[in-house]
Amino acid sequence: MVDFTTSIPTWASRPGEDAAGPPADGTSHVIVGVASGEVVARRWATTLPDVTVVTTDDAPAAETALAAALERARVGVRVALAGPAGACLRLRAVALGAGAEDDEIHVHATEAGTAEVFCAHCSTATATAVGVDGVVPCTGCGRDLVVYHHVSRRLGQYLGFQVDAETLPAGDVLVGLRETQ
Ligand SMILES: [Zn+2]
Repeated sequence: MVDFTTSIPTWASRPGEDAAGPPADGTSHVIVGVASGEVVARRWATTLPDVTVVTTDDAPAAETALAAALERARVGVRVALAGPAGACLRLRAVALGAGAEDDEIHVHATEAGTAEVFCAHCSTATATAVGVDGVVPCTGCGRDLVVYHHVSRRLGQYLGFQVDAETLPAGDVLVGLRETQ
């Protein structure tokens, strides 16, 4: 069973906006900057106390480093993420998986970038820059998927359905999906 929320975070739907920056309300801070977010992360690191900073062009490496940093983190740690929206969705999923709450995670999506789309038919994740309402062929099953306004918090992926899913032949069963919020 995979949970998909019915709304996309504001930072993911409108990348580029972040007037406030992360609040300095933690006892320590884990800051991750990916690609275009690296400069943002380095700036934050000068303004927050007790920081662990990860900056990299490599989104999967950032996810691994974030998970490792949160494993070592003490109570009261805050997470600040900067980078392409798709990378931030994945990083947020890592932070949530490590036990962080939404109000402990600050995100600045610097650009749309590529994001992963979860195929509702075969569960394969496909990376794409087409954005919501765009169409991308699934790398797993080859179906043309339309990217929906649904994000899985746990996976950090958008939900994708076959474009003409309403005309699916009988017996084509979707993987278990449950919407929350
Ligand atoms: Zn598929």
